[in-house]
Amino acid sequence: MNSKSLRQAPGPLSFALIVLVCWFVSGMIADRMVQQELDAALRAQRQMSESIVDNMAEVIASDLAMSRAIPATMAEMDVVQHALAQSQNYAANGSAAEPALRETLLKVPTLASVSAFLHDGQGFSGLDSIWLVNANGICVAASNVQTRNFVGVDMRGRSFLANALLGAFGEAYGVGRSSGEPGIFIAAPVYDDGILVGAVVAKVGISRLRHWVAHAGAFVADENGVIIMAHDAALEGHALPNGRIKQMSPAERLNTYRRVDFPNVQIEPHMQQVREQAPWIPAAVAGELFSMMDRPDPALYESRIGLNSGLSAHLVDPLAAWPELLRNHKRDHLLVFLTLAGTAALAWVITLSYVRERRHHRATRDLAEQLQSANTLLSAEARHDALTGALSRRYFLDLLRREIERTQASGEPLCMAIADLDHFKQINDRFGHAAGDRALEHFVDTCRAELRASDAIGRLGGEEFGILLPVTALETGREVVERLRNRLKAVPSTKLPPSASLSVSIGITELSPEDLPERLMSRADLALYAAKSGGRDRTEALPPDDTAPPTRTAATTW
Ligand code: GH3
Ligand code: MG
Ligand code: MG
Repeated sequence: MNSKSLRQAPGPLSFALIVLVCWFVSGMIADRMVQQELDAALRAQRQMSESIVDNMAEVIASDLAMSRAIPATMAEMDVVQHALAQSQNYAANGSAAEPALRETLLKVPTLASVSAFLHDGQGFSGLDSIWLVNANGICVAASNVQTRNFVGVDMRGRSFLANALLGAFGEAYGVGRSSGEPGIFIAAPVYDDGILVGAVVAKVGISRLRHWVAHAGAFVADENGVIIMAHDAALEGHALPNGRIKQMSPAERLNTYRRVDFPNVQIEPHMQQVREQAPWIPAAVAGELFSMMDRPDPALYESRIGLNSGLSAHLVDPLAAWPELLRNHKRDHLLVFLTLAGTAALAWVITLSYVRERRHHRATRDLAEQLQSANTLLSAEARHDALTGALSRRYFLDLLRREIERTQASGEPLCMAIADLDHFKQINDRFGHAAGDRALEHFVDTCRAELRASDAIGRLGGEEFGILLPVTALETGREVVERLRNRLKAVPSTKLPPSASLSVSIGITELSPEDLPERLMSRADLALYAAKSGGRDRTEALPPDDTAPPTRTAATTW
């Protein structure tokens, strides 16, 4: 792996960074997803909670209205009014005198018949008991004389009576002194000829009203903030935070509730715990959730106060979807993370293969270019002699063949010459092989200087060169090579010692119409032989001849 690919491959640090980013982003996406689920769950459950509490409130209001109707109606009845008017003289005389007072009152026939009437009224009204209290606060008749007899009892201390004995309607929760049963006491003032003569009091036992808290989490508190009835009975007797009970004296508490201690019910915003459990919940939403006592899951809290009485209806409804939301958040986080990480890994693999592909492509292209230039070099080398730059023997012979065909077709003249440096061996021997090489280069340079661009020079071997002169007749060709020969002597190479004088022998001939390449070459070779034999440093020419192929008898002598 080269340094470039090392740079492109992500290290463990960037890998860890990608994983971290994916984890963080998937957390944010999961937050949003579950927040939406939570919103929907909250909306649905809040609607449900509201309708449950509204329903509680309606039932309480209608039950109370019905319960109030009985004493209110009785307060309007003559028999009740007369009975109370007649019993105005009976007054409290201490609790010790109560039994005697009861004896007296029970013997009064009018009151006994009223008690029987109240008993019947209680039977069909669904109330627990009904009794009459005169203006002095003494119970003078009661529906339950047979079982629990209030008659003769001084009732002035009862909170529910306070208003009635002042002429107003009274209603309060309380615990019955003799029965110990909690209930709602309703007191209606009774007037006779415009004068307040007492009150009709009715009690509805709490046990009759249990249907108010039929729903789990429901409870009802009275005007003092005391839970008088709850679906979970353990809550009864607890006080709402800020309930008025806290300001009441122990004596007052005892008077109404027959007890002094009222532990607080804890319904508190669940903010801290909820945010610890689920940090993805927005603070505003967390603030809407409540915790009830030690219950772990957050809940919705709804309440209705008033209800045309001092009562209030409450519902603490645990958020049913909570455990599932917590699970969903974990699941969504993981799923989104896997999707993101998978996508990132895929993108990484694609990028890597793309980069590798590009690199491979570039390498292949470079290789192809190298091959091409090597081929170009090779073909140039194949065409040219590496030392002198003259055409190679092979290429020169190809060219010769092509030129012969072209010339024979066009009818133009063509000259072919063979030049051989004289006593070249001596140059090598005297000045070294390198000097010999310079001499060969110099000869080719001299040819280039003297010949036309359309002429061709090829190295046939050693210090022997072929020269092709297109569109040239023998006479002209001879002059050209003579000039060449003379120039070689006249312009010596600067790279050779002055004593290294160069000369060349040249044989030239012209193409005849029926010539083959071999015959043309042979004739030029023969002319060269003649030049060598004639004493060297000269040109010999042989005219075109289609007869017999010429032979050189002493070709090996130069
Ligand atoms: P002649 O005048 O009869 O042609 O004599 P000559 O010495 O030129 O011919 P000969 O054939 O005896 O010697 C040719 C020499 O050319 C022999 C060989 O070592 C030398 N030669 C051939 N090719 C090269 C080459 O590429 N470089 C050098 N420096 N010498 C070469
Ligand atoms: Mg030679
Ligand atoms: Mg030779």
